Amino acid sequence: MPDIIQLLPDSIANQIAAGEVVQRPASAVKELMENAIDAGAKNIKLIVKEAGKALIQVIDDGSGMSETDARMSLERHATSKIRKAEDLFSLYTMGFRGEALASIAAVSQMEMRTRLASNELGICLVVEGSEVKKQEPVASERGTSISVKNLFYNIPARRNFLKSNPVELKHIIDEFQRLALANPDISFSFIQADEVIYDLTAGKLSQRIVNIFGKSYQEQLAACQEQTELLKVTGYVGKPDFARKTRGEQFLFVNKRFIRSNYLNHAVMSAFEGLIQDNSFPFYVLFIEINPKHIDVNVHPTKTEIKFDDERAVYAVIRSAVRQAIGSHNLTPGLDFNA
Ligand code: ADP
Ligand code: MG
Repeated sequence: MPDIIQLLPDSIANQIAAGEVVQRPASAVKELMENAIDAGAKNIKLIVKEAGKALIQVIDDGSGMSETDARMSLERHATSKIRKAEDLFSLYTMGFRGEALASIAAVSQMEMRTRLASNELGICLVVEGSEVKKQEPVASERGTSISVKNLFYNIPARRNFLKSNPVELKHIIDEFQRLALANPDISFSFIQADEVIYDLTAGKLSQRIVNIFGKSYQEQLAACQEQTELLKVTGYVGKPDFARKTRGEQFLFVNKRFIRSNYLNHAVMSAFEGLIQDNSFPFYVLFIEINPKHIDVNVHPTKTEIKFDDERAVYAVIRSAVRQAIGSHNLTPGLDFNA
């Protein structure tokens, strides 16, 4: 019997990996925006057409890339963010797997324009299904612009599996809101089908919350702040009267990464016990800052889960921070915008 095992060509390996990383337009939006944040951008613009099915474009004024790096960024497991296994435990960037661009490029028609501040000209790459079709110098703004056209154009089964435009757009808005909440010091704009959905100027978190959710939130926020040796909790919770019957506005971030955790959500709910009706849910935007060596974010490329060394300690600090916030808001009514 002859030997029969072969290594897959990169384009196929990337397409398979893309199944993990890019589930829908919103996953590409998240990856591209996270890259812009990691690149130190102060202004990030998101443009989508047909709920991301026709176009997703992210324009940033971050570091930009050299010509070689622009090519390298499309390779799988190619990253500037970690170099050795230990780096996983001192991670302050959103990305680290080096998989996103390779995956997105494998299942779309991508155009990348990028320029380092120190270079006069930038570079433009046109990529289709992992294959670089064109590479040429271009005059461009400092930073990076990546356009992802016709996602899954080469995988009809995936393309057909996408939901209606309103559903896909909702997923994109969710990702956008999470990243905008986690980074109030960055200006973001979001344009869908030529209509401005958000235009958010850099500022304080409380202002960002009001700009995203509306003026009615302004008087309803209670500031949280508590610090122990292990971690720091900051952010805002809605006052008890502001709790809603429907879920959806509960945001928890660990080192600026949006996470879901039934256990930690329970910590917040338990702080509201007796103050809100059963089956109603308080608004919250809470941030945990913790030394990365005490957490593991390497669970799954798209899963919003992380592992803590000591989850019970985190629970206790969140509960106490929230209790203090809602306990004291009666004494100091109104929102302190300097907080
Ligand atoms: P990761 O973010 O996990 O490193 P990606 O595939 O998302 O992997 O990106 C690969 C690399 O390309 C990054 O490590 C970074 O060096 C570079 N890169 C990607 N997007 C940008 C951007 N918007 N600005 C500057 N560099 C970028
Ligand atoms: Mg990335």
